Amino acid sequence: MWNLAQLGVANYRSHLDVAFPINAIPEQVSEAEKDMLLLLYDVYVEKLGRPSGELAGEGQRPGLLEAVHDAYDLVQDRRRLAKLRAALKLLAQVCPYCGFGQVDELDHVLQRVHFKLFSIFPLNLVPCCGACNRGKRKVPSEIASEQQVHVYLEDVSAFDFLRADAQIDAASGALVVQYSIVQSAGMGDDLYARLKHHLVEFKLRERYQKQVNLYLGGLEYPIASSFETTGADGLKVFLAGMAAALTRREGTNDWRTALMRGLANCPEFYEGGFRTALGLEPA
Ligand SMILES: [Zn+2]
Repeated sequence: MWNLAQLGVANYRSHLDVAFPINAIPEQVSEAEKDMLLLLYDVYVEKLGRPSGELAGEGQRPGLLEAVHDAYDLVQDRRRLAKLRAALKLLAQVCPYCGFGQVDELDHVLQRVHFKLFSIFPLNLVPCCGACNRGKRKVPSEIASEQQVHVYLEDVSAFDFLRADAQIDAASGALVVQYSIVQSAGMGDDLYARLKHHLVEFKLRERYQKQVNLYLGGLEYPIASSFETTGADGLKVFLAGMAAALTRREGTNDWRTALMRGLANCPEFYEGGFRTALGLEPA
């Protein structure tokens, strides 16, 4: 999650030419306007897709804004730009916003209603799950610390920032996992604030709790048998080993990696609390 490789597009003009054929009558978008759109695409990349009046199309011809906005309909299945939709959906195996949802929608990083000129710009289109797409704010935020981290344009892989703090609730014996972001070495305040906001924007603290239960449900047997054969120390080693394997496979900031690290640092869990936490016995 967090980052996706960009779609390999040699020339963004090809999409504009499919959407607005040359010499079409009536002409919706002129060739000069396509040149201008490509320059604005460059500005978008330079500004990392963060909202501004220029990107919102201030001062542009209203008919141009509407034409490009409406061209997104061509990205639907079986329309002229359906191949773009299919190619974008192949970029992600799971939703890059939450890390577990099935990819079945495209999110406009800069909301289409407000940033019409980027309606079919591949770098503004992120394959994601329905819950993330529907949960995201509909109006762009003017507050810098609430602006989205761009999955294509902001590489966060050099940082180790996702934490899952695990505790066993004394009364119920249930596992409580709190996800948070830490400001790792070299991470600027702006990125730190926006990563924190990402958990809020996509309601991940709440949504992760359910995923944690589902995921650990599938690990009941290895966790219980690890404890039975090797004791608390062995279970801790097992959990740390899972975290290391997940780091290699899913990355250090994957929610499962963070979870396994959190559990390996939770004595209440690996010293026996896992039994009530996983529902293997009553509290
Ligand atoms: Zn999602």
